[in-house]
Amino acid sequence: MKAMPDRPVTTDLVLVGGGHAHIYVLRAFGLKPVPGVRVTLVARDLETPYSGMLPGYVAGLYSKQACHIDLQRLARAGALRVIHAEAVGLDRRSKRLLLKDRPSIAYDLISIDVGITPDLSAIAGAADHAIAVKPIGDFIDRWDALLARALRPDGPRRFAVVGGGAAGVELAFAIAGRLRSEAAGAGLRADAFHVALYSAGPLLANLNAGIGARVRRRLAAQSIACHENARVTDVAPGALTLADGAVHPADAVLVSTQARPPPLIASSDLAKDAHGFLAIGPTLQALNDPFVFGAGDCAGMVASPREKAGVFAVRQGPPLADHLRRRLRHEPMPDFTPQKQFLTLLGTGDGEAVGGRGRWLAFSGRWVWRWKQRIDQRWMAMMQDMSMLMPEARASPAAGDDNAAMRCGGCAAKVGPGPLGRALRRLGHGPAPGVAIGLDAPDDAAVILLPGGDMMVQTVDYFRAFIDDPWLFGRIAAAHALNDVFAMGGRPTHALAIATVPHAASDKVEEDLFQLLAGARATLDGEGVALVGGHSGEGEALALGFSVTGTAGPDGFLRKGGLRPGDALILTKPIGGGVIFAADMRAQAPAGAVEAALAGMLASNREPARVLSAQGAQAATDVTGFGLAGHLAEMAEASGCAVDLALGAIPLYPGAAALARQGFSSSLVAENRLLEERLRSLQPLSLPALALLFDPQTSGGLLAGLPSDCARACLSALHASGAPHAAIIGQVRAGDEEARGLIHLTDGAHWPP
Ligand SMILES: Cc1cc2nc3c(=O)[nH]c(=O)nc-3n(C[C@H](O)[C@H](O)[C@H](O)COP(=O)(O)OP(=O)(O)OC[C@H]3O[C@@H](n4cnc5c(N)ncnc54)[C@H](O)[C@@H]3O)c2cc1C
Repeated sequence: MKAMPDRPVTTDLVLVGGGHAHIYVLRAFGLKPVPGVRVTLVARDLETPYSGMLPGYVAGLYSKQACHIDLQRLARAGALRVIHAEAVGLDRRSKRLLLKDRPSIAYDLISIDVGITPDLSAIAGAADHAIAVKPIGDFIDRWDALLARALRPDGPRRFAVVGGGAAGVELAFAIAGRLRSEAAGAGLRADAFHVALYSAGPLLANLNAGIGARVRRRLAAQSIACHENARVTDVAPGALTLADGAVHPADAVLVSTQARPPPLIASSDLAKDAHGFLAIGPTLQALNDPFVFGAGDCAGMVASPREKAGVFAVRQGPPLADHLRRRLRHEPMPDFTPQKQFLTLLGTGDGEAVGGRGRWLAFSGRWVWRWKQRIDQRWMAMMQDMSMLMPEARASPAAGDDNAAMRCGGCAAKVGPGPLGRALRRLGHGPAPGVAIGLDAPDDAAVILLPGGDMMVQTVDYFRAFIDDPWLFGRIAAAHALNDVFAMGGRPTHALAIATVPHAASDKVEEDLFQLLAGARATLDGEGVALVGGHSGEGEALALGFSVTGTAGPDGFLRKGGLRPGDALILTKPIGGGVIFAADMRAQAPAGAVEAALAGMLASNREPARVLSAQGAQAATDVTGFGLAGHLAEMAEASGCAVDLALGAIPLYPGAAALARQGFSSSLVAENRLLEERLRSLQPLSLPALALLFDPQTSGGLLAGLPSDCARACLSALHASGAPHAAIIGQVRAGDEEARGLIHLTDGAHWPP
């Protein structure tokens, strides 16, 4: 996250949807930002498929990664903001974009490129018994699941593709090629699979006759049944029905026919074209709103209508970027007219392709497939190449983080355990009337004895944002702050917030503060904690913290020093979040890894804490800045014991180990690793394992000790209570007091070994 913009933000440009045109716009604004303009991408999916290569993925010729663009990485590299959310409406009067399950966001200028929604309404039963090919992002997972079923002994054998356009044709070829190539590996005969293509009118009606003839020949050569002028009216389990009443057997039906405008457009009061899509003029602006731009399949250029194809969405990218830039600078925008003729290249799933252009030109062969591959791969390589956006020196794990803007945020922005401990020791203890747990035996929170005899738990946390979505950061910061109380077995009741917002135009500061606190409220309200006040200020970077007050839980307090010999050690959430966000700062963390780590951070520790207390835990802490090893060493030291830790049993966020192996680690790891002297191992430890043991966590899991005979039952209860990754990771050693504070590592995958 950019700590300080070049100029205070005065204008918000919001891009809705990571469609083909927006991918270009993101790169263009990343390469050449407009001073004072903050670009925000609102994306339902953080990985967006490139349509040209999708049939190649179905055919098994491309990996998922090869045909997807990682929007998280692209936006990070360009220092653009990403909000991972689905846009559900537009309030044009107040210029706000409505989002699903979270507050709306403000825009000054907005551009919409969200693709289309399948229209299954014309085919009875299709919604229940068929797979829609669009939106293409959703299709991939469904295809993967269908393929897995198809390769089972009792899986579907008769496949029907409904739709005689370019997408349906390519898909039929790709499905046939994939099923037949995988058949032998699954112990099946290639001719066990049957693929049929259904077209309501003539096949490829929009393309020239030469292309159609070549495609028909290739379909026949591959034994793909081609039914033209065959409108499918009904899909039922095991069969489909045509308009003439004929019933054809079909175990799996994929529909690639006409699509509808997406709900975001359909529900808006924006001008629509004859088919209900966003009506845009030659400047790509909505006909009835100069602040709204549109591109791709969701929009129709009323003066020069073209068919819905990725090629047009791709071609709209450069003029869209140019027009948005000009609009932001109040400069005139030239008209854009899309080309009439375009090159068509259709893969036939067998290493060949059929192509053509205009009314007459048609060709086919292996060279056509190689040509198509070159075009598609060149575009993908260009869009996936982050080097121009983020120079290698900044992207590399070896890049120094001396520069303040490259130092990690979240819990990785904490002062290390060494300097903190030394400073507190020099400070000594002051008067502490009524303090039950304070600095003399520090724990996750302080406990104050109130005059009536009640106990009050108090804690404070504050850190810099490590993501640039203020609402999401607010949710995580609040979840994190409550953890200290949960880790003590307490019940949080009230919170005060302290918020820092970067300097910007007054309405932007208000909006950022609102989003930040709305996120915090979403977490606090859900936990029944009242936000009762706070303090705010302007600063270099977004930051948020809370002082949380609570009461003792029904089972008393859990202490760091409560481990007993023989106790099993349980960890309730994966680790590795610090590594993932260290890589994310350098635009190197895959979107899937970021998504999983954020989901883990948002998971509440309330129920896991209750389960642990109820199952007999006497010792707990939450794993945060000092990493698993740092916090475990603290517990072992305070409890006067040593522990065994099974490295392979520790749950990790997906992608964390790979990023650690690449050399990524968060700023605090070096300081945390001063505690390495506490580790004992029979084998030399690799650097990635150490990086993860000392990896700082934000809103991390609970680490607890409880009698080992309760551990299995406790684990099952934790899995059922919203901590699906909870694991037994080790045990407290018996009678090893001289070795207090030591962690003996084994590389076992389970505990007990
Ligand atoms: C199997 C198949 C093969 C195809 N092959 C080709 C081909 O070879 N050549 C060709 O030109 N065309 C092809 N097409 C057509 C092509 O897929 C589409 O025309 C193209 O994807 C349209 O691009 P787009 O930019 O409009 O949106 P999309 O590529 O559909 O992207 C839309 C994006 O918006 C996001 N989004 C959607 N709704 C929301 C929301 N409410 N809020 C936030 N984000 C949202 C989605 O997650 C997605 O990332 C093919 C289509 C299919 C199904």
